[in-house]
Parts: sequence; structure tokens; C-alpha cells
Amino acid sequence: MPSEEAGQNVSQKEAVERQKLAVDIACVGFGPAMGGFLTTLARETVAEDGTVKIPSVAAPGMPLQVVCYERADDIGFGVSGVVTRGRGIKASFPGFEPSQVPLAAAVSSEKTVYLLDPVGASRRSLGLRAVDRAIRTLKFPFKYAREAVELPYTPEFLRKHDGWVMSVGQFNQWVGAQLMGSGAVQIWPGMPVEQALVEGGRVRGLRLVDQGTDRAGAPEAGYMPGMDVEAPLTVVGDGPVGPVGRQLDEEFGMPGGHHVREWAVGMKFVIELRENVEIKPGTVLHTFGYPEPEIFGFLYVLDQRLCTVGIFVPSWLGSPVRTSYRYLQHYIQHPYLWRYLEGGKLRSWGAKSLQESGKRGEPFLAGDGYARIGEGSGSTNVLTGSGVDEAWTTGTQLAEAVIELLRAGRPFTKQNLEATYVKRRRGSWVEKEGRIAECARDGFQGGLIEGMFGMALAGLTRGMVVLRAEPPVPQGLIQKAEKYFAGRIAPDELEKIKADCAARGVALHDAIMDRLGWPAIPFDGTLLVSQQDALLMGGKVQAPAGFADHVRFRDVEICRECGARVCVEICSAQAITPGADGVPQFDREKCVHCGACLWNCSQEVGPGEGNIEFRAGAGGLHSAEN
Ligand SMILES: Cc1cc2nc3c(=O)[nH]c(=O)nc-3n(C[C@H](O)[C@H](O)[C@H](O)COP(=O)(O)OP(=O)(O)OC[C@H]3O[C@@H](n4cnc5c(N)ncnc54)[C@H](O)[C@@H]3O)c2cc1C
Ligand code: SF4
Ligand code: SF4
Repeated sequence: MPSEEAGQNVSQKEAVERQKLAVDIACVGFGPAMGGFLTTLARETVAEDGTVKIPSVAAPGMPLQVVCYERADDIGFGVSGVVTRGRGIKASFPGFEPSQVPLAAAVSSEKTVYLLDPVGASRRSLGLRAVDRAIRTLKFPFKYAREAVELPYTPEFLRKHDGWVMSVGQFNQWVGAQLMGSGAVQIWPGMPVEQALVEGGRVRGLRLVDQGTDRAGAPEAGYMPGMDVEAPLTVVGDGPVGPVGRQLDEEFGMPGGHHVREWAVGMKFVIELRENVEIKPGTVLHTFGYPEPEIFGFLYVLDQRLCTVGIFVPSWLGSPVRTSYRYLQHYIQHPYLWRYLEGGKLRSWGAKSLQESGKRGEPFLAGDGYARIGEGSGSTNVLTGSGVDEAWTTGTQLAEAVIELLRAGRPFTKQNLEATYVKRRRGSWVEKEGRIAECARDGFQGGLIEGMFGMALAGLTRGMVVLRAEPPVPQGLIQKAEKYFAGRIAPDELEKIKADCAARGVALHDAIMDRLGWPAIPFDGTLLVSQQDALLMGGKVQAPAGFADHVRFRDVEICRECGARVCVEICSAQAITPGADGVPQFDREKCVHCGACLWNCSQEVGPGEGNIEFRAGAGGLHSAEN
């Protein structure tokens, strides 16, 4: 591999000859989708006694060469809930028991809970205030206690009663360890894939990210150009904000009427509960109504007195000062949840975007030389609140298709992949349920009451009756502060708050939330800690040296003129801060790769595109408990 001297510029870098590797199948990302793909494939390529069942074409005499590259520094650093029915996962592991996966527990009880606002600071519509007043006054027939109402039942479409709760990090490690042990596939963590190699409308492999560069990507001492990995099939499972999936969306377009416009950032804490707390492993709570009506939440109790608790801040929350971290701190202090969480210890935290367009965000699932699986392929079901099992199942479907094609000696063309993979997917429960969910969230564009009604309607009629509305691009949903806070903060006071925050070089959300009556967070150094402290606790954040910044501002002049700076407000890890010259600053060492900045720019610089480029990058959050 050619090594380069420091000081080379980018154009010299382009001229560098890259190392090449030829394999049979190259894979991007190791999440549940890739877990399903590789587990199913590995069983059919090498027998338990090591006999080769499907030989390699790339390396004659060897077993099929399957290599998977994962961006994060380990294969167990995912972020998710998780409660899952695990239908696809159970099918892959007959006789599966949750106890096989560390920290997992069978669902023991499940409740859906409406949380009222105990502090009076959330932005509730008049209709919702009337509902809250009725609940507080009448109490009966509602099961009202601790500022919450437990719904009499959890709708069937939401229920996970036959499933289990788990940590996705532990699950990925469990799956990964079996795969590595099989010797049938290789998984390389700490290796972000820069892009798919596309030639003449066909994907012929992938390119890894360059190493040994400065922040702008220019070569420094120890420069190692990213290797080109060539393969007849490239499997893309890089999740909701994966750069390779997005590249393919740009390259090949989207099917008619499809687009990815709905998002949420899911942020969670993993908390060690105090001793003798009265809540059983396997308890599942789905919540809505607080800290803002648009924010859904969850609490799942894992094994070993750990619990996972989090919120989803959606793109349809109009606020320009969206912050997941502070909202999550208020959420866990809601009296309904705090009775369990008080006295607990923060073990780790994490954040990740969710692609909430579901089936409507489905790209072309296959093309010449490539196939898409998992959340980036539109598999997540926003009605049932389930993504892991769907992602896993799309991976298994692709693996079955690949085995069929390999055995028949047929090439990985668009036509062949459609006749095998896409056909399997279309005939499966993932597709059927995805269709039911397709418009289930549309009502939320009209507010919580309409949104909940729309969801119930879609769920109960199995998608036959829906409140349909075409979702606007995310930039169109972010309101100006003056409008969003009208009637609550006077324009001149808002200007003063903005000027003060700008002078102090801090984000706006804390000052605004304080002003709106959100109480100060009573930091205790154990569970309620500052965002900066959280970066260093449990799941700490790291960034290996020698990689280019993966978050870049496309046009700094647009940033300079931007009055909103939503990117600063939403940033899950305070990695984007207000810069001194009016252009936000990005600190790679703090970034958790949640991808929220991708869809949280208020300025539309291209169709549906903000002013931030979110590329492939290494590092991020280090926690296997998330
Ligand atoms: C807070 C939260 C709670 C959730 N709760 C639940 C729940 O209770 N139940 C449920 O079923 N689902 C839940 N989900 C959704 C679920 O996590 C996802 O649907 C699921 O993880 C999708 O799996 P995937 O394999 O498609 O993608 P991911 O899990 O996102 O995996 C993609 C992988 O690709 C890697 N990658 C990205 N870019 C690159 C690159 N350029 N090169 C190499 N690797 C790359 C990523 O690091 C990642 O490991 C939740 C999500 C969040 C954020
Ligand atoms: S990235 Fe977008 S939101 Fe952030 S400052 Fe620039 S233009 Fe504004
Ligand atoms: S900079 Fe990093 S942590 Fe901040 S929003 Fe973007 S991806 Fe998330």
C-alpha cells in the first residue's frame, strides 16, 4: 500500500493507487439487518464440520468470501430500545430463549400510558389542555395517578406480549460472536465505508474511508487511502442515515412517490435501578404526552436490575430549539416514572436517528450488483414501533435469495435479485404490516389528538382507513422561534435571550426552556448529570485520530445568515456548537453519530436537503449496553 508524505493535497490524494481486494460479497454496516443476513448465509456456505458448501469465485479453493465492514469501533455499539416480538429472530434460532442473550428478559407486562404535564411547561393545544383538565377533575373513569393515565389496554398492533426486551448492543455481540466463531464470514469493526463503487449503473463493490488525513480529508503522515473492495454483490445495511444508502438513493433515485422525509431522534439512558425497586424484569411501558405532546417515550426493564428509558423527538415537532438530552432528563423525572428511577445510576446513554417514513421511504431494494436491507431500506414499522425484527427479517430474506442464486449459478443482476429477494420480501409479514403502517403517522401533522386518532384508525382498520397527508420536507416543519413561541415569549424578550446566548456561545434551548417554566435539572452526579459529563460516563464518546470530519457545513455563508441554528440545538452530544464567526463548529471527539444534524437544518439547499453533509466516519459512542 503506498504511504504518503504529510502535506500532500487532495488532488494528489485522488491520484493515489488504492489497494484492492476481491471478495464474493461485500457488506456495509453490522446492525440487526446484517446480523440476519450473515447468520442465514453463513449456515449455508460452510458446514459445521468445516466442509465448504458454497465455494468462492473470488478466491478459488476457498469458501465463499463474505466481508462486512462496520463503522463503529466494535460490533456491539448499536443504540436501540429494544422491545421486540422477534418473529424473524425466533425463526432464525429455533428454541430461542431470551436468557441466551445477556440482559434480555421476556416481556412480563405491557402498558400504554398517557403522561400529563406535571410542571405546566409543555406546549399543549387547547384541545389537549381540555382533555387534561377533564382527567384531573373527573379522575374516574380514568385510571389517573401520579399525573398519568394508564390506558385500559394496549392496542393489539402495538403489543409485544410474546416478545422480549434487550440491549441491541448485547444482541449484536451475541450474533457477531456466533458468526465469527463459524469462520464463514469476516466482520471488521472500526472500518467506515466511504461509498459504493458505481460504474455504468452497476455497483461493483465499496470503498473504505481514507485514514491518516487531516480534518478536511487532506493526507498527512501515515496516509492510507481507503481500500477498494470489489464484489459481484454489495449488501447495504448501513441503517437510517447511512451514507452508502443515501448515495444509492441519489444515484438511482427513489421509486415514484417515495421519499424519506420523516425522522425522529431516539435518545436513551441505561439506568441501574436502586435495590428493591418494585418493577419486574420484562416490564414494558409505552408513553405519550410528555415532555411535549409530540414526544413518545418508553421504559423497558432488562435483566440484572438495568432499565432502558428513552424518548423520540420527531421531525414534526415544530420547535426550532429541539433538544433530546434536556427533554429526556425531564421525562425520567415524571412522577409516573421517577418512582422507579429515583436513586438509580446512569450506566450509559445513546442517541440515533430513526427513519420514520417506513414503507414510503423504501428505495429500490435491489439493482445490478447490490441489495438494500434493514431500516435504510424502509423496513421499520412506525405503527407497531418495531424496527429490529423487521430489519433482521429483510436480512434473512436476502440471504435466502443469495443462496438460491449462488446454487443456480445465476448472477446478481437487478432482475435476478428482484425475482428472488424482492419477491420474498413482498410476500412477507414485513411488507404486509409495512403497508398498514404506511400512512399511520400522517395525522400528527395536525397535532397529537389527530395523530393518535389517525394511528388508532390505521391500526384498527389494518390500514384500510387512514388520515392521509403528504408529509412536507423536514426543513418545512421547523418553525421560526418568533412564531413557535408567540404568546409565550414576547419578540423583544426572545431577541434578548438569543443575543445573550450568542454572546455566551451556547445553544438556545436551555435559556428558552428555563424561561418557559421547565425547572432546573437537579444534577446529582449519578443519574442526573450534565450533557458533557454524560459524554464521559458509561458509554463514553471517542474518535480515533486520522479521519476527516464526517459532519461538514456545505455552504458556510448560509450558516452565517441562518437565524435558527437548529443543528446546534438538536445535536445529541454538543458536538456542534455556535462558532465565533457565525458558523457552527463541529467537534468530532464528541459526536455520537446519531445523524440528527442530517435532517435538522432549517435551510433547504437542495430538494429536501439541508446545509449539512453527513458522511461516513469512525468512532462515536462506546457502550455495549445500549
Ligand atoms: C432509542 C431507540 C429505541 C428504539 N427502540 C426500538 C424498539 O423498542 N424495538 C424495535 O424493534 N426497534 C427499536 N428501534 C429501532 C431499531 O433500533 C432499528 O430499526 C434497527 O436497529 C435497524 O437495524 P438496521 O440493521 O437496519 O440498522 P442499524 O441498527 O442502524 O445498523 C446499521 C449499522 O451500520 C453501521 N454503518 C452506518 N454507516 C456505515 C458506514 N458508512 N460504514 C460501515 N458501517 C456503517 C452503523 O454503525 C450501524 O452499526 C429503536 C431505535 C432507537 C434509536
Ligand atoms: S447547518 Fe443549517 S441550521 Fe445549522 S447553522 Fe448552518 S444553515 Fe443553520
Ligand atoms: S454532530 Fe454528531 S452527535 Fe451531533 S447531531 Fe450530528 S451526528 Fe449527532
